[in-house]
Amino acid sequence: MALMQHEPLYRDTPLILSVSGVNKAFDGFKAINDLNFYLEEGELRTVIGPNGAGKSTFMDIITGRTRPDEGTVTLHENDGHDKDLTKLREFEINRLGIGRKFQTPSIYKSHTVYDNLVLSLNRDRGVFKTLFYRETAADRELIMEVLKTVRLDSRAQDLAGLLSHGQKQWLEIGMLLAQDPRILLIDEPAAGMSDEETDRTGELLLSLEKKHSLIVIEHDMEFIRQIARKVTVLHQGHVLKEGTFEKVKSDPQVIEVYLGRQGKKDESK
Ligand code: ADP
Ligand code: MG
Repeated sequence: MALMQHEPLYRDTPLILSVSGVNKAFDGFKAINDLNFYLEEGELRTVIGPNGAGKSTFMDIITGRTRPDEGTVTLHENDGHDKDLTKLREFEINRLGIGRKFQTPSIYKSHTVYDNLVLSLNRDRGVFKTLFYRETAADRELIMEVLKTVRLDSRAQDLAGLLSHGQKQWLEIGMLLAQDPRILLIDEPAAGMSDEETDRTGELLLSLEKKHSLIVIEHDMEFIRQIARKVTVLHQGHVLKEGTFEKVKSDPQVIEVYLGRQGKKDESK
């Protein structure tokens, strides 16, 4: 891992993702402005920031949906053959083990919870093969494990359309987990959830730490408090602050650009 030589000696966990010097403008407007972001293997990182800070664009750049104008996005591989993601297409990046969960779940409502997981296991195998596919014992074991992780084991044979809003979100996280991603990108997982569902989502994300690397974008400060390890605050497409929840929460600049607007934003909902 070439980059490691330039990393500080006290870093004992290897990096999995490096975003350096990234810029992206839309019609002259700098949505991402000299962004530098480093994620460690197995880390759970939360990213916060006001509306328009560039959070979704940041995820779009990692997943190859949007190409940066400048800068590099590197996925570090254990064999030292790092991948420059800015040269790859969205599906290629996904195959390298970067999974993304959008805000609106894209589950198959008229299939059972179990079959949704079978379908996501087979995403690369094509529709025709999937139609005639019988899952192996290993597949079944993996699906049962995922069902337990996302706490839907008792709902396996129910239609996905019958799940609550929160359970649908968990199912979609489960569909990503079935593909055993190295990095999971999750955009506002607690949006629209009840307090209990939000708590459970926090527990779920915490249980994935170490096994996967995670980037979670979120607005809900209570939720951030529950899951926060290192928090990155984005503002005008740039990292404004990074640190513990307590540190960023009490930072005057963060309060100014983010927390200060939180009340206004909530009123307009
Ligand atoms: P966030 O997710 O933090 O709310 P976004 O990444 O969605 O912020 O947007 C950052 C800024 O870039 C916003 O001002 C938004 O209007 C702009 N933007 C994002 N995507 C596009 C696009 N495809 N075309 C033009 N402007 C865009
Ligand atoms: Mg967004």
